[in-house]
Amino acid sequence: RTRTSAELIEAEKPVLAHNYHPLPVVVARAEGTWVEDVEGRRYLDMLAGYSALNFGHRHPVLIEAAHRQLDRLTLTSRAFHNDRLAEFAERLAALTGQDMVLPMNTGAEAVESGIKVARKWAYEVKGVPADQATIVVAADNFHGRTTTIVGFSTDETARSGFGPFTPGFRIVPYNDLEALEAAIDETTAAVLIEPIQGEAGVIVPDDGYLSGVRELTRRAGCLFVADEIQSGLGRTGRTLAVEHEDVVPDLVLLGKALGGGIVPVSAVVGRREVLGVLRPGEHGSTFGGNPLSAAVGTAVIDLLETGEFQRRAAQLGTVLREELTGLVGRGVVGFRSRGLWAGVDVDPAIGTGREVSERLMREGVLVKDTHGSTIRLAPPLTITEDELRSALASLEKVLAA
Ligand code: PLP
Repeated sequence: RTRTSAELIEAEKPVLAHNYHPLPVVVARAEGTWVEDVEGRRYLDMLAGYSALNFGHRHPVLIEAAHRQLDRLTLTSRAFHNDRLAEFAERLAALTGQDMVLPMNTGAEAVESGIKVARKWAYEVKGVPADQATIVVAADNFHGRTTTIVGFSTDETARSGFGPFTPGFRIVPYNDLEALEAAIDETTAAVLIEPIQGEAGVIVPDDGYLSGVRELTRRAGCLFVADEIQSGLGRTGRTLAVEHEDVVPDLVLLGKALGGGIVPVSAVVGRREVLGVLRPGEHGSTFGGNPLSAAVGTAVIDLLETGEFQRRAAQLGTVLREELTGLVGRGVVGFRSRGLWAGVDVDPAIGTGREVSERLMREGVLVKDTHGSTIRLAPPLTITEDELRSALASLEKVLAA
């Protein structure tokens, strides 16, 4: 007998670490924008695995690429070359307008790798005295969960109880070029920011902020490291969110959608003068750059090169914005959006973000709350206009109830 959703949720409790508080839905299968639970109830996925599912669930091109590779070669480690990695790196560098690629697996690993590369660059190229390098980051950042990364988080829940932390980080307010300029000095290796802060509630900085960061870092002779793990690969209507301001960072961190929702794939992409500082033995990963990941990642690049997903995100982003504008004052107190990505602040009198998410779940729409009364919308970029409008109609219904 297969267990029911309720039984499976109960069964997790004694055996699974409680580091998440999922909505009470147990997904058993999925296709495109839709997921189905154990009992066969269908839900529109408006979270898309925190943007890991930009191409929807089980996109046929990606599934086909994975199947073909599974039948041939899955893992070599980097002790040997594999025949898929060169093309993946060439194509990813070309897609992002960069020179070199450092393949890793998860987002946090890409961030850690970017930090290591920036520090090495500071000592070897910039000439910062040994162990003096600093990295400037933004308040309310989210870059992952390792001890170094949570050490420069400003979210007490993420940090508390996990110290001592790695030194060498300076925190400034986001979207504040003056504060950033004041924090940069001769020890600064890099400025590390999200072009749009995702977990913080889809915080879109003012026009001119990203180009301002580029200008400041160029003048100061330090690196601009853009964490595009959530904002990148089509979500905002461009391949990278920094493209909205025609900015080219020194390092770009990618993850999530790079693995097509099939395998964890992340990467640091950057200029040769920067990524070139790494030499054999100084950094690595058993799974990074494995042929299965490279094959799926290359198929992701195939999809992005068509421009179709970026176009859809931009066009449907207009619909999303219109619909949300119509809800302001009717249960929504404010929202921020770019492309198919929105942070929606619901009236706290109606409920917490969690409560609204649970009500939406009962309407057959899956979203995730962030802080307090904000919910985040980030559907697969394959969503149709009708599906998008119907999800927003459900939101309207839930907010009016
Ligand atoms: N950076 C950003 C901007 C993210 O949004 C996330 C995950 O939400 C990460 C890094 C960490 O990625 P991962 O969970 O794959 O380690």
